[in-house]
Amino acid sequence: MRDAASKSSQSGAFSLLFGYLSRDRRLLARALLLLLLATAADVSGPLLAKHFIDGYLLPGDWAWQPLLLLLAAYLVTQLASAWLRYRQTLSFTDIALGAVLDIRRRVFHHVLRLPIRWFDHAATGQLVSRITNDTEAVKDLYVQFLSTVLTNAVLLLGILAAMALLDLRLMLIALLLIPGVIGVIFLYQRLSGAAVAETRQQRSEINSRISESIAGMAVIQAGNQQARFSAEFEQLNQRYYTARVRTIKISGLLLRPAIDLLSVVVLAAIIAGFGLAQTQGAVEIGVLYAFLNYLGRFTEPLAEITQRFNLYQQAMVAGARIEALLQEAGESTGGTLPTLTQGAIALRALQFGYQPDKPVLGPLTLEIPAGSFQAIVGHTGSGKSTLLNLLLNFYQPQRGELLLDGEPLSAYSREALRSGIGLIPQEPFIIAGTLRDNIDMGRGLSAQRIADAAHQAGLDALLERLPQGLETQLGERGTRLSSGQRQQLVIARALAGSPRILLLDEATANIDSETEAVIQRALRALHGNITLIVVAHRLSTIREADRILVLSQGEVIEQGNHRQLMALPRGQYRRLYLLQQQAQRVEMASH
Ligand code: ATP
Ligand code: MG
Repeated sequence: MRDAASKSSQSGAFSLLFGYLSRDRRLLARALLLLLLATAADVSGPLLAKHFIDGYLLPGDWAWQPLLLLLAAYLVTQLASAWLRYRQTLSFTDIALGAVLDIRRRVFHHVLRLPIRWFDHAATGQLVSRITNDTEAVKDLYVQFLSTVLTNAVLLLGILAAMALLDLRLMLIALLLIPGVIGVIFLYQRLSGAAVAETRQQRSEINSRISESIAGMAVIQAGNQQARFSAEFEQLNQRYYTARVRTIKISGLLLRPAIDLLSVVVLAAIIAGFGLAQTQGAVEIGVLYAFLNYLGRFTEPLAEITQRFNLYQQAMVAGARIEALLQEAGESTGGTLPTLTQGAIALRALQFGYQPDKPVLGPLTLEIPAGSFQAIVGHTGSGKSTLLNLLLNFYQPQRGELLLDGEPLSAYSREALRSGIGLIPQEPFIIAGTLRDNIDMGRGLSAQRIADAAHQAGLDALLERLPQGLETQLGERGTRLSSGQRQQLVIARALAGSPRILLLDEATANIDSETEAVIQRALRALHGNITLIVVAHRLSTIREADRILVLSQGEVIEQGNHRQLMALPRGQYRRLYLLQQQAQRVEMASH
């Protein structure tokens, strides 16, 4: 089963990597033509030399005209070969960079469309490594492997042809080198495949560890965890080192030395063969000169070819990993309904668990009228964010139905859901850019729309204080926002899309009063206009809700408005509310 999967991703990798060759045939044809011409120019050198030795040097014939011609031809071919090689390298690099550009684009495009549930199991660093390092390995395949192997294979053929022109028997002896080299390559591939795959895996784990540590630096330092992280990283680093040393040992042992040995054997055979031929008085000195010259070059391309095979190996592993990522099923394209008109929600016996055998929500049955203000409260882990995830279609319920305006969620197009439902998530996500960028989020909204949203979210006071207003840069070197202002910004972003339904996931009960006031003001302004679903930890935020749902282990255990729930003598909500009030009083007294 796994074998079949890895086979298919292997062949997928193959077509992924080599597919780019046939994409731009003109470019490829040019590269190949340059390659042929460069090789011809290259190989002609010793032939000209042989002509000089046997035709002029040995007979002592110093006719200057043909000699000058010979010298000129020699110079021209050598210069031409250098220039053509340069052009040829450029052409192959062009193909290579084009391939990397396209693969990287495809991978990132694909990742952006993977379903949210996929990211539950994805390590960020590994993903980054696939998009950068693995695609870079593809470039090596073209520039280093393909170009080198083709160049050297053609050079080899050229040399063989030239050798055959000189002396067929000696050429046949040189030919013996080839099966030996192929044997070495084969052995190398057998031995190094696993080790190469392992180094890649280790490297992406190192990447992922570093990026996770950077993201969590505050937590690491606050928890005084530096030593533990250092130690774990050290282990990982050491494993990479060991794996890498192993691959180098294999290639150091097999590739260069084995081939050098083979070529010495063949050299001896040729000299012996030459001696034999000489006793029969057939071979000229110029032939021997040219032959030795060719033989010296003969092993070079063979060694190059075999050495580049580890790049091929790496590119194949990288290609298989990229291909596996591209094979991940993307988010479904959704239905056809273009817009959400009202914003009414109905849940019918809805059931869901992140793992099918571990239910988190439900069965839930609820009617939420359009324009109403619904609050969800409950202990941590009771399923509040999960319910919002289902409404956003990030996950699909295992059982039951989720209807929007009477139609199942799946009937709506992705755009209808994204523009119809606004989300203010538990952790506000601020991008590096201006305030305007953060509200617009690439949707290309009108200036009026953005200004209105900023106003609705209560950002006016902040904007007045900033000299550059909406164009103020945030993030890395820009203005830092307080948590209340961040919240306002995220509210503005959600409202700018004019959603019919607004989902708000309040982070903790410990939000500061400024942030709470911001949220309350926004909710009051929106109440009655759009459907509000607010997950609240601080219960004072939702006192004005039309209905409060108390969740416990994925089920609604109480519902009603604030007054009704407070009237339940043993109610969960009443208990929580009184507790929070008490805590607040203690806090105020202690200040
Ligand atoms: P909080 O108040 O802390 O935000 P919550 O009510 O929003 O809690 P959920 O995030 O909905 O809780 O989580 C409900 C349950 O589902 C928890 O047991 C949690 O561990 C689990 N859970 C949440 N997200 C995932 C996920 N991506 N994969 C697997 N289990 C998850
Ligand atoms: Mg939550």
